Amino acid sequence: MSVTLFGEIEYLKGVGKARGEKYRRLDIKSPYELIYHIPRSYMDFRAHIPIAQAKPDEYCFLKLTVTRKLQPQKIRSGLVICKAVATDGIDDIIITVFNNVYAFHALSEGAGYYMYGKVTGGFMRKEINSPVYIKDDEKVLIQPVYRLTQGLTAAMVRTNMQQALQLMKSQPFETLSENIMQKYELKPLMWSLENIHFPESDEAAQLARERLAFDELLKLQLGMSLMKTRARCSTAYKMDDKTDITEFLSGLPFELTEGQSRATGEILSDLCRNIPMNRLLQGDVGSGKTVVAAAACYFAAKNGLQSALMTPTEILAMQHYKTLSGFLEPFGLKICLLTGSVTAKNKRIIRERILSGEIDVVVGTHAIIQKDVEYKKLALVITDEQHRFGVNQRAALAEKGDSPHRLVMSATPIPRTLALIIYGDLDISAITQLPKGRKPVKTYAVTGKLRHRAFNFVRDRINEGRQAYVVCPMIEDSESDLFAVKSYAENAQKQDLKGYTTALLHGRMKSAEKEEVMKKFRDGEIQALICTTVVEVGVDVPNAAVMVIENAERFGLSQLHQLRGRIGRGEFESTCILITDNTTDECIKRMKIMSSTADGFKISEEDLKLRGPGDFFGSAQHGLPPLKIADIACNTELMKKAQMCAAEILRDDPELKNPENHSLRVDTLRLFDKEITG
Ligand code: ADP
Ligand code: MG
Repeated sequence: MSVTLFGEIEYLKGVGKARGEKYRRLDIKSPYELIYHIPRSYMDFRAHIPIAQAKPDEYCFLKLTVTRKLQPQKIRSGLVICKAVATDGIDDIIITVFNNVYAFHALSEGAGYYMYGKVTGGFMRKEINSPVYIKDDEKVLIQPVYRLTQGLTAAMVRTNMQQALQLMKSQPFETLSENIMQKYELKPLMWSLENIHFPESDEAAQLARERLAFDELLKLQLGMSLMKTRARCSTAYKMDDKTDITEFLSGLPFELTEGQSRATGEILSDLCRNIPMNRLLQGDVGSGKTVVAAAACYFAAKNGLQSALMTPTEILAMQHYKTLSGFLEPFGLKICLLTGSVTAKNKRIIRERILSGEIDVVVGTHAIIQKDVEYKKLALVITDEQHRFGVNQRAALAEKGDSPHRLVMSATPIPRTLALIIYGDLDISAITQLPKGRKPVKTYAVTGKLRHRAFNFVRDRINEGRQAYVVCPMIEDSESDLFAVKSYAENAQKQDLKGYTTALLHGRMKSAEKEEVMKKFRDGEIQALICTTVVEVGVDVPNAAVMVIENAERFGLSQLHQLRGRIGRGEFESTCILITDNTTDECIKRMKIMSSTADGFKISEEDLKLRGPGDFFGSAQHGLPPLKIADIACNTELMKKAQMCAAEILRDDPELKNPENHSLRVDTLRLFDKEITG
């Protein structure tokens, strides 16, 4: 077999079977994927300093000549220390290499090297420990730093990378037209790939990164758009637009807000079309998305069709099950709960009832999209807190029915520029106001010095009958100094919350335990819940009116906003106390934003400004295909550019069928891997 760019990595010159396996461990299966193994950073050996300026315990670049290699010493079995004396022409330094005889042998007396390592020792005698080095006649002085794996060294990756780049250069391809590159001031693809690995200068590395990040953002939008186009096939479930929901609406204990009514209208009219709905329902925490979902389920059931509501956690599934049952059972609808912890026997019974069509609405975790669950007529698929699901999970659920309608609910409002990228495959409905009479959560930020006063306040509220959340970032104590729920709960029991009923809730508890705790909290048997961010998603306990968040600096603004959304859900005035000892400008700014606004859209706008869009792209967050470059190298400017460019390309060629867009199409499909087939 000869080597090709998209062939097996093993055939690349110098790789072979053993090393190929190591690459596979990094998810690199072909030379092409190797080329997209983008450096995390660079070592710039041009930045070398004289030995005299090297400060102890700091990493430095030095330019050294090895003067004398000493005899390796066996310290104890298996541990060898090799030392050599080197000079920068003025001072001497000892090079120490632990246990790596190979690296040591490669050094020759009299030869010159650029070295990088931690310098220790004092004024008289300095040492550089286990340095990384290159020969001083090496032309590439800015060396890429890669994510590695056991047995795969930086030098190996560099050599193989050169080979892979050569291979690509022999049949170069370009995904963008000259025209577009010029208009958006982008470097050619091949140039960018070479310069992201072996940059000629800092500027070259930057330009290369920009081009590649742009590519990713562009492909992301094109891919989303292709999915949207693809989804416009006909659906088996065109519902009757005369279906009446007044009975449902008048049965509600409240009137829908304007936003809820509008969203409901948009959804129901989608359901009556013969192409599947693909809609995002965006609305702040507490804006009342569930009742809108319930209306859609009701509508489907009235048409004799089934709905499924999928949630990322069991807690949330239970909660929704309870809420939907309350909304829908009075009208004779049959709801069931299907999660991983349902016993095998019950599962079988439930599955039969789903298959027979007796069940109208199935609520559950990903258990409801497993192969063994068959529906009679699944017409509507709703996913809640969608950012927790991957694009492919969404797709798996969609495959369950005959092109069912899809509704995706998200409580993470995001700015429009981002929404267009992240939810490019969906139409968007937004509920922008909260139900009437809802009091915004009062938010204060304090330092740890005021912790005891904060807990005075918490106890006062508990004494009035309310309940509290205390959120910590960690589960177990670690070196990090961050608060961990386990030890925190113990201490609180002895001090700040002595005499009160508290309980622990975190992600590593068994789901049965978690459910038990949540049930007790909901029933008011627990006064303070000491928890990690597992409560972030969708938990609804209206009597909980206080929240303390420790190490508030650890959380993103949108996440704090999500957490805070757990309170202020009932008739009580609610208070959120953010505790942080971090006094950096950025942290203070963030805390100010949190205490000054309750508008999720505004908060996410600020988050975007402060931290750039990278945080929004994590695949865990929004279920996008994993980005390699754009998540770190992207800025708002670049995002807008990519957006304009995508629009421009799609305007002329919505399905990327034109020959000139062929490479771009192939590359886009590659990014989405299995999600878009064909
Ligand atoms: P979210 O959008 O965060 O999922 P929920 O659907 O859980 O919000 O609704 C939050 C609370 O507001 C629930 O207790 C719900 O019953 C209540 N609610 C929803 N809509 C209205 C409304 N129009 N008027 C008053 N209360 C409402
Ligand atoms: Mg919700």
